[in-house]
Amino acid sequence: MFTIVKNKMFTFVIKQKPMDFQALFTEYKEKRLSGRYITNKHIEPLLKSYEGVFEITVEGVSVLGEPIYSILAGTGQTRVFIWSQMHGNESTTTKAIFDLLSFLNSKDAFSKILLGHFTFYVVPILNPDGAEAYTRVNANAVDLNRDSVNLSQPESKVLRKCFEEFKPHYCYNMHDQRTIFGVGDAPLPATVSFLSPAYNDEREINDVRQKAINLITAMNETLQEYIPGQVGRFDDSFNINCIGDMFQSLGVPTVLFEAGHYQGDYEREITRKFIFFALLSGINAIYENVIAVNKSEEYFNIPQNKIVFYDILFKNVKINYENKEKITNFASQYREVLFDNSVIFQAIISEIGNLDTMHGHAEVDCNSAGFSTEDGNKMPKIEEKANFYIGERRKFVNGQEV
Ligand SMILES: [Zn+2]
Repeated sequence: MFTIVKNKMFTFVIKQKPMDFQALFTEYKEKRLSGRYITNKHIEPLLKSYEGVFEITVEGVSVLGEPIYSILAGTGQTRVFIWSQMHGNESTTTKAIFDLLSFLNSKDAFSKILLGHFTFYVVPILNPDGAEAYTRVNANAVDLNRDSVNLSQPESKVLRKCFEEFKPHYCYNMHDQRTIFGVGDAPLPATVSFLSPAYNDEREINDVRQKAINLITAMNETLQEYIPGQVGRFDDSFNINCIGDMFQSLGVPTVLFEAGHYQGDYEREITRKFIFFALLSGINAIYENVIAVNKSEEYFNIPQNKIVFYDILFKNVKINYENKEKITNFASQYREVLFDNSVIFQAIISEIGNLDTMHGHAEVDCNSAGFSTEDGNKMPKIEEKANFYIGERRKFVNGQEV
């Protein structure tokens, strides 16, 4: 942050201390939300506590009649429209949004400045039925992020109404991505990915798309200090049915956020923090007007994320296939299952083969020992639970050695 001080003789610029994102997160994290299962039931007490502080509105109802809430915060000229959980099981960004609201509701001097400069319009859970059922799609099994032309679903209509009435200067389209994505050659997990969506098939860059590009590079610059090499750029092929592409083509700079995997963080409590850092640094960049500079080169230098990870990779295992022994590799992927009001992770065998271009978030060397199961299988079966033995002594349950 800079403060310009003028007097008759001099104009000088005092560089203020950069924001301490970690300290802000520690102080203002919304402790009432955690884990992967975030629904209307979880956010309603928070919304209640913000009554009289921010403007809370029911914008409409979902297929199953659940309220779709919005939160209006601030009175400033620059309007930012943020929505999360368009895909019901993508809750990390919702947690980060409530961390941001907690900061905005604080006595911190900068939060007051932001509330005077910006108006934030937040739809924290656009797809409450999907959130409740822990599904990507809504209750009619429609992917709302493919419904921006047809507007066939009540949730899509609510989002469009909010967009048209609020007339935002910026849109934040907030999602989670699976653990399969990595960045670079190492590779590292794509903990956060961004996209400034295309607005036409040629993927040209106009002023609108450029603004979103510049904003992303400001957020990337901050994130690189904390998670170097773990920020990815999403594929920008144009699809007008996707909401980001639609809003960008309607003339509003739109940023896609994808909260991804951080080492060991399946609850996404660490990734949540980095989304908070991104939100705050992006807002700060708009406030300081540093995003007016063309940053296309920096943006396209952010590596594209790519599918290179399994959750667990088992290497050098001996299998018995058609009475022939063979040393190979196999992989397991967690299936997220809603159980007793929380999300559990079931390790399912997902691939067998060389897999030498792939990596595991966890890797197990089987040292050429044989694979076997309780019922006598000598070869891993795709889609089965990852419960097995390696050699005589090593027992694995749900993909973990016990
Ligand atoms: Zn999504």
